[in-house]
Formats: sequence, structure tokens, C-alpha cells
Amino acid sequence: MDQYWDYPKDTDAPILWAEGVRRYVLNGTCIAEAQGGGFYTKPVIVRTTDERLKLRAIDIERLYEINRDLMISLEHKSIYFIQEQYAKYSAKGFSFICAFSGGKDSLLLLDLMSKALAPSDFYVVFSNTGMELSDTVKAVEKAKKHWSKLRFMEAKCHMEPEESWNEFGPPASRLRWCCSVHKSVPTVLLIQSLVGEKSKVVVFDGVRGEESLRRSKYEEVGEGVKNSLQVNCHAILKWSSSEVFLYLLKNKIFLNDAYRCGIYRVGCKVCPMSAKWQDALIAAHYPGEIAESLHQLEEITLFAKGRLDKKYVEEGGWQSRAGGKILKQGENRVFEQVSDNEITFSLVHAKQNWLDVLPIFGNIVESVGNQYTVQSKHGIFTMSFDADDEKQTITLSPCSKLDRYALSALRAIANKTAYCVGCKSCIPQCPAGAFQIIDGRIQIRQSSCIHCYNCCTAFERGCMVAKSLFVRGDSVVNPDKYRNFGFRQSFYDHFCENGAQCFGMEVLGKDQYKSLKQWLAESGILQRVQKGTKESVTTDITALGTKIMSYGPYNPFAWSIMWANLAYNSIVARCFCLNVDVGATFDNAYLVNCLDHDIDEKYRRQAVNSLLSTFRDSPIGSALSQGISIDKALYLRAGWDYPHAVALLYTLYLYAEHTGSKKFTFTDLMNAKNNKDSLGISPSDIYAIDVNSFRDAVQGLALQFPKYIRVSFIANLDNIILEDYTSLEVLDLAEE
Ligand code: SF4
Ligand code: SF4
Repeated sequence: MDQYWDYPKDTDAPILWAEGVRRYVLNGTCIAEAQGGGFYTKPVIVRTTDERLKLRAIDIERLYEINRDLMISLEHKSIYFIQEQYAKYSAKGFSFICAFSGGKDSLLLLDLMSKALAPSDFYVVFSNTGMELSDTVKAVEKAKKHWSKLRFMEAKCHMEPEESWNEFGPPASRLRWCCSVHKSVPTVLLIQSLVGEKSKVVVFDGVRGEESLRRSKYEEVGEGVKNSLQVNCHAILKWSSSEVFLYLLKNKIFLNDAYRCGIYRVGCKVCPMSAKWQDALIAAHYPGEIAESLHQLEEITLFAKGRLDKKYVEEGGWQSRAGGKILKQGENRVFEQVSDNEITFSLVHAKQNWLDVLPIFGNIVESVGNQYTVQSKHGIFTMSFDADDEKQTITLSPCSKLDRYALSALRAIANKTAYCVGCKSCIPQCPAGAFQIIDGRIQIRQSSCIHCYNCCTAFERGCMVAKSLFVRGDSVVNPDKYRNFGFRQSFYDHFCENGAQCFGMEVLGKDQYKSLKQWLAESGILQRVQKGTKESVTTDITALGTKIMSYGPYNPFAWSIMWANLAYNSIVARCFCLNVDVGATFDNAYLVNCLDHDIDEKYRRQAVNSLLSTFRDSPIGSALSQGISIDKALYLRAGWDYPHAVALLYTLYLYAEHTGSKKFTFTDLMNAKNNKDSLGISPSDIYAIDVNSFRDAVQGLALQFPKYIRVSFIANLDNIILEDYTSLEVLDLAEE
């Protein structure tokens, strides 16, 4: 910019405003914009004027004077808020922490805290992720001098990022193990060591509503949001970034120098959530500091593609991995087999010993050679355990005593045994202080463990390393068998009129028939046949198909039943149901990104195109309101306003059939979406119905169909009990 404009180089005051992050604004007009850029590419600055501008430093004193009333009001309100929360919670025995990151918001918060409270009233905790920019570390040192009376503490993971990246594989947008391993867990453990394991603590943080839509909805005080012993207070929630800067500049509080380089958000130097603009600025100003991380990302391309592909790194291909397929560390270490009322786990290259982790499930009460008797809350089990350097083999019986909670706990224990590298993230999940990591080894205090399985359910697959390194099979290679065609009403009309004979006609094109066949099979109308791992579609109409076809091609109820089956049988429909909330808008790109990234992007695009075409050309989109086209590219999932009672009952029975239990809770249904091990999908996710309406609807079902469903929504009891019918039989109620 200095080639085109004249501006003072010796001032600390700002010269231009930034709009968004890439656009530079002078007197309300955008005069330049940075375009492109990334780790290896410099951005281009595009000027909107050829005029040789003479820029002046902004007069901070004057700016403050003009905004004095507002600024003083903000400052006083925040200070009063801090004092008020301190008075309230200190009376209840809480301790107080100021979370500090070295960024501008932290600096403001710290200054306000130092004005509101005495230094001995709170600790300042800096969470050092090990991925901080050198200017952030310097800012922390400056802060210690600036507020020399405050008690600064540093929370840091026992593993360096280089080591954890090697063990877990680099983080990705859907594998953000790093936030837990390098930030939240070390902070929680430090706080516990400062104030005591069971002590309650108030954490003041620098969260601001302006930062994101989600944060804009936060309350200023959040009790038990992160954990039951913690209250989070957002003292500067209402401040805008210009007000934060104005306060710091006016009060001559130093800035983290990273802001002077244009970096707008101080955080980890390489982050799976960062924008390319941020990557470009960091690469330009701190090349030596990101070299090791870039090297690790480049290594991925060497392994996955057999060649160095910097474009893949720069464009964030690594950010969207969903498992270990592209990593050299990626491997499946747990193999499971069920036969003759026995379950066998074979663990290869395991990091821990099964017997050390087993107490989560139950305790060994007797052992002879490799035979053990295990007492658990599910009953007594016989177990054999054999191990050598390469492999551990565990067989447990009887399987019949294992309900799905016990089974998923055992799977989590197997994953922990196979993958745990001792990152400590499970420790804060344990309410009994029983889960410990000592010298990298899991140790469960048998006398303390209450077998609550919190440590098993906290992370998908029971361990973040397992999730990060797991390699999916090829069964999901191509979710689009629809040949780019949607499930059109006109196609279905043709099928209803002619039955299976339509496939011998030539009214539709060849690919359109193939597509229709696939949609009908996944909707439950045509029979599917499984041969080994391969599935084929026949032209035989199922019993469900016969019932549904009798409603004709225009009946929304018939389409709602087909949609419910698609939610279970079609990869793309299921992904849609689980990832698009009621009332949310979505587009092609969003859905392509939601689908498993182990699937080739070309196939993901085709599958999404087919689904969107289904929304446009069938009652699923409009009458069931699953995808209402708003404009050319954007859709709204408004949700089914008045769901048919029998369709809801049918989907509850489908849930029971898929999960294997006719007795479950409302909470199970609500949690199914976030539980990757769940085999069932909640009707509220299939049809996009909000929680309260769905709860009312389920109660209504119990009144309307007492022979088919009983519910008890009293206090914490939210049981749903279905009777001895099949989902198919339930459909007869619609005729009645
Ligand atoms: S979280 Fe629950 S199951 Fe896990 S170790 Fe702690 S008490 Fe035991
Ligand atoms: S089992 Fe828990 S502590 Fe061990 S690596 Fe996995 S997430 Fe970390």
C-alpha cells in the first residue's frame, strides 16, 4: 500500500478501518480489498481508486470524546457486572478465574477485572496451546508486567502439538480434538489444582456476542454450561470490536503485535477453522513458526497422493478429513465378532492393556489362568483374555446380558485400550475422580468408579484418537445410485399406474428407470437382496409397497412413510435429516460438506443433486416442507407443520425395530442425532419437528392410540413403551 498512498509510519493510532476483514474503508468508502492468498500464495491488493491518497492517523482522543457517554456506560456496566457476580458467587463459596488468551478482548477484560476486584480475588489463567504466535506469548509477558499485582497462571498440555499431531493426525474441522487436548482440559485441570477438584468456580471470559451468531445468543451468565461445577460470566458480551480497540487505545494498553500485521483473531497459528486470509497473513509474518505444522500437512499429501500437493494444503483439503484414511497413522485396531452368545474383541497394536481399562465396565472377582469372572452392574460375565506383543484377544459371555448401553461401553473400552495415548481429556469427564492417566497409562480407581460410563460416551467411539484414526470401509464409496435424478412424483406416478411392469416400458430413459428403482428400494417399496457385502434391488413389491401404493402418487401421508424409510436407507437422506435443523436454510455446498469426506467429492455432489431434485419435484420438499426452494440455490427446511399421527407412530416403531428395543426414553430419541452409535433416528429429525411440538405430539399419540404406545413424561421419567406390533401393522391405523 505504501507504493500508492502516503501515510504516517510513526504512529500507533489506526489509519484505516477494516470492514469484514479484507476490505479497507476510508470515510465510509471501500478503497482497497485483499483478494486470494493462503499459506503459499500472497494475496492481491485491489484498489478501487487510482488517486494518491494522503491518509492521516485517527485522532483517538477526539473519537473517544465523541463516544464518551457510550464508552463510560459500557465500562461501568461491565465493572458493575463483575462486582455483582463476585458478590453473588463468593457468598456461595465459589473461586474466581479470569481466562486470558493474549488477544484484545482478554486485555480489555483483564483491565476491567483489575478495576473491579482486588488482585487476591481471582487468578488469571493463560491457556497456552503450544500453537500460539510468538507475539501472543510476548503479549502475555507484557501483561504480567502491566498488571504486576495479579496472579498469572499458565495451563499447558503435557504433550507438545508436534507430538499430539503425530498421535492423532492433524486436527480437522470435524476432528477438533486439539481444543480439548491443548486448551480446555489443561485449563480445567489447572483450575482444579488451584481451587480443589470439587470446588466451584466462576470463569470470567472475553466472549463477545459480535463474534458469531451462536455467541450473540449467549446469556451473560451461564451456570453449568461447560461442567456442573463451573459458571461462565461474559463480562464484555455486548462490546463491539471498535469499542474494544477504542478502549485499549484510549487507555494506552498495549496491543498484541499480531493485530498490527492485520491478523484479526489471535489464536492457533495453524487451525482447521481458519480462513485463507488469516493463513496468508500468518505465513507472511511468521514463516518460521508454522514451518513444522506445514511440513506435517505436506506429509499427508505425500502419503495420500504419492506426491507433494501444496494446493491441497493451501485450499484446506486436510481440514475436511473425517477419519484416518488419508493418514499414515490411520488404522483400525479393534475387530469385533459376535457368535454363540459370546462377543470377541481382537485388538492389534493396542496402546493400553485391556485389564487396566476393564474396571470401567466391572471388576474381576476371580481368575484362573486366562479365565476371569467379571462382576458388573449388568450381571456376572465370564471372560477370557490372551495377549502378546501384537494382539490382545478378549471373549466375553453371555452376550444376552448386554443391553445396548453395556455393549457401547465395551466398544468404547476396546477403543480406549487400542488407541489411548494418555491425552487426559477423559479425566474431567469422570464425576468420581476414578479415571486417571499416570505416565501415559490409563488407571481406573476401582473403589471410586461408579460405572456411569461418562468417560465412554463423552467422545465418539470412546476416544478421540480412535475417531481421528479410524478408517472407514468401502461400503460408503458411492452414496449416489440415483444417476443424478431425484425421486420425482411423475416417476412414481408412472410406477403406481403400471407397477413393476413399468421397468419394461420405454416411457422414461434407461438411467431414469435405474434411478427410480433405487429410490423405490430405499423407500421400502421394492425388495432389496443382500448377497455378502453386496446389495441388489429386485422388482418385487414389498408388503409395505403394496400398502403405500394404494394411496396413489399424490398422497403426502404415503410420501411421509417413504421419506421415513429413506432417512434410514439412503446415505444422503439420512445425512440431511441429521444435519439440517428445523427452520434452517441450506444449499448444495453445505450438504456436500456434511456427507462423509471419505466419499469421493464427485459422488457426494451427485447424491446431493439427486436429493435436491427430490425436494423440488416431489411432495417431500413442499407438502412435508423438508426442502422448500427459496431461490435458485437456497432451500429452507421448515419442517412438517401438522405431521400425520400414524406417520409419527410408524417412525417410532421404525426406531424400535432399528435399535432392537420397544422401550426407550424421550431423551434417547433426542440424543440419537448426536450419538453416532445410535441405530435409530428420532421422528423429530426425520420430519424436522421442534422438541416441544414433538413431545406434545408423542403425548397425543398415547391418548389417541393407547393400545400401541404408552408414555410417562413425569419429572425425569420420560419413558416411551411400544406394544407388540410391527411398523407395518401400525400403518393399518391410517385406514381406520
Ligand atoms: S467416568 Fe464413570 S465409568 Fe468412567 S471411570 Fe469415571 S466413574 Fe468410572
Ligand atoms: S481414551 Fe481419553 S484420555 Fe485416552 S487418548 Fe482417548 S480421549 Fe484421550
